[in-house]
Formats: sequence, structure tokens, C-alpha cells
Amino acid sequence: MKEIESLKKLQEIDSQLHRVKSDLNEKPLEISRLDAELQEKSSGLNQLEEELKQVQLQHKEKELELQTREETVKKQQAQLFQVKSNKEYSALQLEIGKAKADNSLLEEKIIEFLEEMDRLRQSVSEEQKKVSASGEVIRQQQAKLKQEVESLNKEVADLENQRKIFIDQAGFKPEVLELYERILKNRGGMALALVKDGACKGCFLAVRPQIMSELKMGKLITCENCSRILYVESE
Ligand SMILES: [Zn+2]
Repeated sequence: MKEIESLKKLQEIDSQLHRVKSDLNEKPLEISRLDAELQEKSSGLNQLEEELKQVQLQHKEKELELQTREETVKKQQAQLFQVKSNKEYSALQLEIGKAKADNSLLEEKIIEFLEEMDRLRQSVSEEQKKVSASGEVIRQQQAKLKQEVESLNKEVADLENQRKIFIDQAGFKPEVLELYERILKNRGGMALALVKDGACKGCFLAVRPQIMSELKMGKLITCENCSRILYVESE
């Protein structure tokens, strides 16, 4: 096999390796993206639970306030029988009337809190169902991703093994293999570039006719611009 043909074959293996490895690199990101998604979904639930707790506290506070105010009204009503003058009596009655009106506003407020609590409990329970359902889906997706990681790891091991065997058999000159490896590393996993229509397909720079004819003679030449090893389609 001509050297360039062997390099093309090696590049085929390396291109596959490159694809599989970049696939593999994506998986942990997908797994943690799903973690974040679940966390985001639970954060909505946490917020609702916190809101409910706040409303429950406010409700309790207003209940206690109402109790105190009602006791005050009772005391004032008892005082009505003890006042000495009409003036005092009507002043006290006025005060009681005002306190009762305030209390009924407070009762309305308490009812509003109760309604708010009902509404929030309902939302919490709906949200819990949603979170637990999407948690289930997300765990399944993550399990699937972990399986994919396993099989991609196997593919990498297979390809690396295939690569090693091929290199052993191909009998590259050490400097050629070294050159290839260096370009592969520096040029995003593509060490070779096809020359077509008079240009390097790796960087689209025009290739001089002199170089074209040398390539056709099977000489190993790198692109002046992107440094990839050039090849022409075999006729
Ligand atoms: Zn080039």
C-alpha cells in the first residue's frame, strides 16, 4: 500500500475516533443539564411550599389578633354596665362599634388567607405530581445516557485497538507517523486534506500546479497554509 493510502486509512479510523470521543464528551454535559432541569423543577415546588408556610403564619397571626380584639370588645361591653354618665356610655359604645367593624374587616382578611391557603395547597399538590413525574422521566433519560457512555467507551477502546494494529501492520516511517500525529492533534482531528479543483479542501487555498504534479507522483506534501498532508483522489 502506498504511504498516502495507509495514511488515508489511518485517518478514517481517527475520524471515527474523533466523532465517538466528541459524542462521549457531550454525555456528561447532558447528564448534568438534566440534573439542573430537575433542580429547576423542584425549585418551583420549594417556592410554593415556602409561600404556603408564609400564608399559614400570617393566618395564625391574624387569628390570634382577632382573639385578642374580641376579648377587648367583651371587656368593653362589660364596662358598659359600669359607666356613670351618658356621655361616657355613648363614647364607649362608639368605641365598641368601631372595634367590631375593625374585627369584621379582620375576619374577612382571615377568610382571604384561608382561601389563599387552599389555593396554594392545591398548587403544591399539583406541582408535587409534576416534579415526581418529570423526576421519573429524567432518571430514565440519565440511565439511558449512562448506557450510551458505556457503549461509546467500548467503541473508543475498539477503535484504539484497531488503530494500534493498523499502525503495526502499515509500517510507517517514524517521521511520517510523527508528522501525521502532530497535524492530527493541531488540526482538530483532520491530518489529511483532499486537493480538489486545484484547492486544498482543508483550508481552500489554491494549490500550485507544480505541487499538483508532485502529488500525482505520490510525493508526501503538506499544505502551505493549513499544514495538512495533501492527497489527490486516486484515478
Ligand atoms: Zn490547506
